[in-house]
Amino acid sequence: MTTGRTNDNLNHFAAWVNRYCDSHGRHDALPAVSGRPFKLHTAQFRRTLAWFIARRPGGTIAGALQYRHHSIQVFEGYAGTSDSGFRAEVESEQALARGEHLLTVIDAHEHTRMAGPAAAEAARRLEEFEQRTRFQGTVVLDDRRLRRIMNRDDPAIYPGTYITCVHDSAKALCERARQGAFEGLGDHPQCQPLACRNVALTRENTDAWRGEIELVEQQLARRPPLPPLLQNRLLGRKQQIEDFLATTQELS
Ligand code: SF4
Repeated sequence: MTTGRTNDNLNHFAAWVNRYCDSHGRHDALPAVSGRPFKLHTAQFRRTLAWFIARRPGGTIAGALQYRHHSIQVFEGYAGTSDSGFRAEVESEQALARGEHLLTVIDAHEHTRMAGPAAAEAARRLEEFEQRTRFQGTVVLDDRRLRRIMNRDDPAIYPGTYITCVHDSAKALCERARQGAFEGLGDHPQCQPLACRNVALTRENTDAWRGEIELVEQQLARRPPLPPLLQNRLLGRKQQIEDFLATTQELS
């Protein structure tokens, strides 16, 4: 559907809502602006879309799938052209969502219980971050203020399912971190969690790895058994994860 057709449909829908409200005596119709029906167009939903994309696992890709589009470019076209700044808007929402998440980590004192090579650095950055969010002794969670803090003093900590990336470009093993595409670090296919020194583990991360071990064990217990080559691979994978967890506990 073209953007023009989508806009027409949005306005037909708004008109239908108002007719429905009229005929059923409802008072929650879409209000007129300066005596005229408010004209809807897709660009007005940019913030809403950006908000949803930022808060879905997988970010822009999830957004693209959600709206059944096959490329990020097409998806961006949904709310404006690629150079319209929509990507920046999504990234700003992602940073805000990340900031909110980091504050919940601090609130639960999770940052003092992290494991892994970057655990101490994560705790230090998050303590600094908490100080910045304090105003007259209390943490202020106002969106605008948090957005400002994330713009100016982003702690560069990226929570993922299996690891939390405490970004330091000098130590980064993935191309993505080196190229400066920061949002999504820690949860992307090129991440090398077992080797990178930017890794910290929260309790949820450790649980995710334990879940992975359980899945491997279920596969190994299958009857009829898996072919020996596959079994060996799975055993190797299990051992790798167990070694990784043991080392990260030592390093924390
Ligand atoms: S490899 Fe993983 S942990 Fe290391 S910098 Fe990249 S995303 Fe972060």
